[in-house]
Amino acid sequence: MEGILRSWHAILMGRRPAMSIEITRECPLTCPGCYAFNDNHLGAGLGLRDVTDLKGDALVERVIQLVRAERPLHVSIVGGEPLVRFRELNRLLPILSGMGIYTQVVTSAVRPIPPEWASIRRLDLSVSIDGLQPQHDARRKPATYDRILKHIQGHTITVHCTVTRQMARAEGDVETFVRFWTDVAAVRRIWFSLYTPQVGELSAERLTAADRARTVAALRALAPRYPKLAMAPGLLAALEAPPSSPEQCIFAKVTRCVSADLERTVTPCQFGGRPDCAQCGCIASAGLAAVGRYRLPGGLEVGRVFDWSMRVGEQSQRLRDAVRARFPEKAPLPPGKTPETEGA
Ligand code: SF4
Ligand code: SF4
Repeated sequence: MEGILRSWHAILMGRRPAMSIEITRECPLTCPGCYAFNDNHLGAGLGLRDVTDLKGDALVERVIQLVRAERPLHVSIVGGEPLVRFRELNRLLPILSGMGIYTQVVTSAVRPIPPEWASIRRLDLSVSIDGLQPQHDARRKPATYDRILKHIQGHTITVHCTVTRQMARAEGDVETFVRFWTDVAAVRRIWFSLYTPQVGELSAERLTAADRARTVAALRALAPRYPKLAMAPGLLAALEAPPSSPEQCIFAKVTRCVSADLERTVTPCQFGGRPDCAQCGCIASAGLAAVGRYRLPGGLEVGRVFDWSMRVGEQSQRLRDAVRARFPEKAPLPPGKTPETEGA
């Protein structure tokens, strides 16, 4: 509830409460269906590998500057593979925690997760594991099951599985997966997304409507039996009926996604390019869609309140911009700006 109220306040002030940062363009994996390395990830035929990324002090300082300017409540560190920049993250993560920001690092666990991360408050480690060992190891080597099991020791992690068509059609794989990772002590919870294609994509990963329905039905049946499987009924219902466009997607509207040069914005959401919203399987989008579809006492949908709040936030931001233009010395800085970042 505190998070919802703080997010609502940020939206009313014209800010986006969530930020996703592609901390590096490097990754030792070559996963089929990787959206980050899609040729058109950044639009205009540009992919993540086409941008220049930062390292060392420059990366640490620029991320802090960006976060101070935008003032998100939640930051996702994605890639590429974030552990490629583990030295910089060793410095950054405690700073973000000290700023009261909830941070999620999304990783393949291809290398050991630094032990000191286990004691950082407000940090969630989300390890991507796509299917049972034979399929996963083939798709995501060198981040194999054996390495993951070794590298997560001493940590508490979230397992995040993206279901592809191959997994959706293998009878019983979803339950076998949930059972295996439930029995691993380091696992706190298990999340599932469904593979999200680009518009017009014809790939082996893309799910048909029947694949989607079967997978959601399986998760619905399993959730009451496996407490670590964190797939609430509203979230599963939202996976069955994704937002029809970025304009209908609360997640896309509240999250600023920044690429590895820490300048370009990835649009319309973290997938970049032209994602097929009608076939979106992103757990974050589904989670916020579920919140948006919740009806308050009296029948009003939370999503309606959200849309109203976004408009108020945009207008208040425009008003502040106008005041600043008229009285540059006297007007307060706009939200998300600090004296040192203003004008940067
Ligand atoms: S680990 Fe992530 S960024 Fe790297 S290839 Fe796989 S999906 Fe892409
Ligand atoms: S998260 Fe899904 S629904 Fe939202 S904009 Fe991206 S593809 Fe569309």
